[in-house]
Amino acid sequence: MLLTIAATRFPDGSPATDLGYLLHKNPARVQTFEQSFGRVHVFYPHACEHRCQIAVLLDVDPVALVRRGGAVRSQRGLDQYVNDRPYVASSFLSVALNGLFATAMNGRCKERPQLVSCPTALSARLAVVSCRGGEEMVRSLFEPLGYEVAITAHPLDEAFPEWGESRVYSVQIGQTTTLQSLLQHLYILIPVLDNDKHYWVGQDEVEKLLVRGKDWLKEHPHREFITTRYLKYQSRLTRDALARLTEDEDDLDPDAAEAEHAAEEEAIERPLSLNQQRLGSVVSVLKSAGAASVLDLGCGEGNLLRLLLHDKQFARIVGVDVSLSSLQRAAQKLRFERMADHLRKRINLLHGSLIYRDDRLAGFDAAAVVEVIEHLDPPRLQAFERAVFEFARPRLVVMTTPNREYNVRWETLPAGAFRHRDHRFEWTRVEFREWAGRVASQHGYRVHFLPVGPEDTEVGSPTQMGVFERDAHCASLAGSEAVR
Ligand code: SAH
Repeated sequence: MLLTIAATRFPDGSPATDLGYLLHKNPARVQTFEQSFGRVHVFYPHACEHRCQIAVLLDVDPVALVRRGGAVRSQRGLDQYVNDRPYVASSFLSVALNGLFATAMNGRCKERPQLVSCPTALSARLAVVSCRGGEEMVRSLFEPLGYEVAITAHPLDEAFPEWGESRVYSVQIGQTTTLQSLLQHLYILIPVLDNDKHYWVGQDEVEKLLVRGKDWLKEHPHREFITTRYLKYQSRLTRDALARLTEDEDDLDPDAAEAEHAAEEEAIERPLSLNQQRLGSVVSVLKSAGAASVLDLGCGEGNLLRLLLHDKQFARIVGVDVSLSSLQRAAQKLRFERMADHLRKRINLLHGSLIYRDDRLAGFDAAAVVEVIEHLDPPRLQAFERAVFEFARPRLVVMTTPNREYNVRWETLPAGAFRHRDHRFEWTRVEFREWAGRVASQHGYRVHFLPVGPEDTEVGSPTQMGVFERDAHCASLAGSEAVR
C-alpha cells in the first residue's frame, strides 16, 4: 500500500523541502519502522525547493498477522492469508500515519512553527482504495472538505473488460490547506472508506475521532455516516461521539470562544498571501462589529463566503454577483448540494447587479465589497453608490480596492499596468480617500481607512480598505431600514 503526499513552495517563500520539517522526516533518508502488522518504509521520491513528495509504503504481512492472532475480519482458511489487506488503504495505514506523523497531526513543529498553520498547495495520492460505495462515496467524503478529487477506476480484470469495474480505485486529492488538516482528514477518512477496521473499537476510538476531527467533522455534511463507520457501527459509541461533537452548537463555552479569538488574531499576524490577508481583515472587521447578517457584494467564487460560513456569528450570509458562472462556481466550491442543513439555512446566493436598486439587499447589518469597485465603469459608480449606501444601507460597509501606488513594488507588473485585465481603474490612496469621504458624507456614514498587506513607507500597502459606519443620527435617512 502506497500513500504519497506532495507540496510545492510555501506561500511565504519557504522551499518545498520544508515539508520534511513539518513531518519530522528528513528528505535525505529512507527509514523503515516495524509495526505489529508489518513494516512501514518512508522516503522521498522527489525533494527539491519547488516540489517535495514523501511516500509511505506499507508492507502488511498477512502471514505474521495470522500467527500473532491479529487476522482481519472473520476470515477462515485461505482467506486469512490471501486478501486485499496488503494492497489497499485501510486502518493499517491510519495506524501507521499516527505513528509516523503524530506531531504534525497535533500541529507542532519547533523548526518551522510559522508553516504549521499556513495553508499551502498540498496533494495526496492513495495508490489503491477499496470502496464498495464507488466513486460517488469517495467524492462525498473529500469534496465537502474543499478537495479537488481525481479518481481512476480499475477493471476487475484487465483481460476480461466485460466483467466491469472493480471496487478498487486510485484516488488523488488536492487543495490549499494545512498539512495538519490533510493528515487528520486522511487519518479518519481512510478507514471510513475501507469500512473494515482491523482492531477492536472501544471508547478510546471515540476520543481519537473527536481529537482528529475537532476542526472539521462537525461541519461535514456526512458526519453521522463518518462517525458510524469510524466506530464500526457500535451504536452506543456513535451516539456518544455525535452528542459530544455537536454539544457546543447550543451552548458556547466563553473560554473556548476567547481562545478561538486569540488564535484568529495570531493567525492574522502570520505571513499569508495577500488574498488571505485581505479576506482575513474583512472577516475580522465584520466580526468585531458584531454583524450577524452579511452581504458579500460581488462575491465572485465565494472565497469570503466560505470563511463567513465557518463562523456561527454570521447567521445570515448572502453572496451577490452579476456573473452567473461565478455564482455557479461558488455554489460548487461551497458544495451547496451536499451542505449540511444547519449550514445551508445560513447562506444564499443572489444574481444581481450592484448598479441597480435591489430591495433584496435591504436590512442587513453589514456588506463586504471586496475588490469589486475597480471592476465598475466610472460612469456607473454613482449608481453603485446609491444602490449600496442609499437603498441597501447596511450599518457597516467594508470595501477593499488595490492601491495603485503599490504597483511599482510588484516585480512582474509592467509599469503603468493594472493588476487585473478587467480593472477599469486603480486608485491611489488619496483618490480612494477622496471618493470614500464624499460618499460617506453624502449618505450619512463615517469612514476610516486601514492598510492590508505589508506597508511600505513610501507607497503604502498593496490593498486599501475603507470601513464605512452608518451615522446613528442619520438612520432615519434609510428608505429600507430594518426595524431594530
Ligand atoms: N469579491 C470577490 C471577487 C472579486 S472579482 C473576491 O474578492 O474574491 C470582482 C467580482 O465583482 C466579479 O465576480 C464580478 O463578476 C463582480 N462584479 C462586477 N461588476 C458587478 C456588478 N455590477 N454587480 C455585481 N457584481 C459585479
